[in-house]
Amino acid sequence: MKKISFDDLIADLSIIESEQDLNSIRGGDTIYINGGYIVNSGGNATFYSNNGTSFTLPGATVYSSQNWGDNHYQLSGGIYLDPNGGADVSTLIHEYGHYLQQQQMGTGSYIAAGLGSAYSVYTNPGEHASQPFEVQATNYGYQYIAQHYPGFVY
Ligand SMILES: [Zn+2]
Repeated sequence: MKKISFDDLIADLSIIESEQDLNSIRGGDTIYINGGYIVNSGGNATFYSNNGTSFTLPGATVYSSQNWGDNHYQLSGGIYLDPNGGADVSTLIHEYGHYLQQQQMGTGSYIAAGLGSAYSVYTNPGEHASQPFEVQATNYGYQYIAQHYPGFVY
């Protein structure tokens, strides 16, 4: 039986993953966004604001993704934020809303709706945030916070 070290495995994975993502997979990384930071643990992501408040997003893992310009996105619980693209707590909550949408819609419908929404970024960037799919994501995210962390200060 061949013994493979964790670092060797990580080295192999590095072919397909960015260094930032690998740090998240290792669990040793903290994702910094405007106003605070995020720690991934046990399949949940916890946000700690600079003013000492926090909340946990069950089922989410946050990655620092600098390969996608200023586009943030969510797929199957993976939330990809670009700290250089102005990501803040509202971005995180919005992307978590996309996770809740996927849970509700199913993955196929979610991807179809998400592609349509992403397309609008390029065809009509000024109107992107007002797309029904985007408005619903924001609502779902803030509803989760209001329900589980009433009175949370951002
Ligand atoms: Zn969105």
